[in-house]
Amino acid sequence: MSAPESQTPSTPPAVGGGASAPTGPAKSCSSCGRALIGWGVVSFPCPKCGSLGLGRCAQCRDQSVGYRCRVCDFQGP
Ligand SMILES: [Zn+2]
Ligand SMILES: [Zn+2]
Repeated sequence: MSAPESQTPSTPPAVGGGASAPTGPAKSCSSCGRALIGWGVVSFPCPKCGSLGLGRCAQCRDQSVGYRCRVCDFQGP
């Protein structure tokens, strides 16, 4: 019985920046990436993992464009 050695990277990729907090209200649409400025924009926590950072602009809300959580990879409208 031979078990293949699997080398798993122990060190995660370095996170660039650091000046701005990684978590917080969304500043851009999670679907199209536009800045959440103007009327109709909404920012909300992920329905699955509850992390902040999701946001949708009025256009994507109107067209029911899907989004994806960058934390837990949840997809949905
Ligand atoms: Zn959008
Ligand atoms: Zn999530």
